[in-house]
Amino acid sequence: MYHRVGEGERDPLLRRFTLSRERFEAQMRCLRRLRCHAVSPEQIARWLEGGAHLPPRPVAITFDDGYADTYHIAAPILEAYGLRATLFLVSDYMGRKSTWDADVAAGEGFPLMSWEQARALARRGHWIGSHTRTHRELPLLDEAALAAELLGSRLDLQRQLGQRVHLLAYPYSQVDDRCRQAARAAGYRAACAGEGIDYHRWCLDRVNTAEASLPLFLAKLSPWFYLFRRARARRW
Ligand SMILES: [Zn+2]
Repeated sequence: MYHRVGEGERDPLLRRFTLSRERFEAQMRCLRRLRCHAVSPEQIARWLEGGAHLPPRPVAITFDDGYADTYHIAAPILEAYGLRATLFLVSDYMGRKSTWDADVAAGEGFPLMSWEQARALARRGHWIGSHTRTHRELPLLDEAALAAELLGSRLDLQRQLGQRVHLLAYPYSQVDDRCRQAARAAGYRAACAGEGIDYHRWCLDRVNTAEASLPLFLAKLSPWFYLFRRARARRW
């Protein structure tokens, strides 16, 4: 799970969500050398339910929020190594700034990619998913607002991109049973969270490797790390 790629941030909180171009490229080069195959989270969801085969050494690379640097920096690096990513976009904020970062970022947040840039990335083979309309904490919303965030953003994305959208990532990885049911009702086929909360179609776990050195990145790719996180999640 990635957020921003650019110059490493000094702020410890931002550093968790930003990695340098060099570190990102080293991680992607590593995936290429290991002959990993990029897949979408939906393929992983089907595999978890026993309904699909995955290629050898599958990896799902995801970017949340749709920062402009995903378009300018990350996508060219991914493509240079023959990899594709899933990009989770905030549909009301395309071409604007990530005001939800304003409390941690100096100023008004960071620049986000435009619809035109999102369309270009979709044409180049990246998968597009929703990260809601306005990046709010979904468990805090009433039914109408929850439906507007989930169904509204899916329809906005489909209209703007001219393709079906079936993937969701919950903002802040905040999710409960009601949100999972609302995601299903809104027409999604799979949804991503993070932090090892759970492991199924409506709560696919993701690993943050923004701060990982190359050895740690490799460790986090391993099946052993996956089994460790799964076992830990079951205890919660
Ligand atoms: Zn986000």
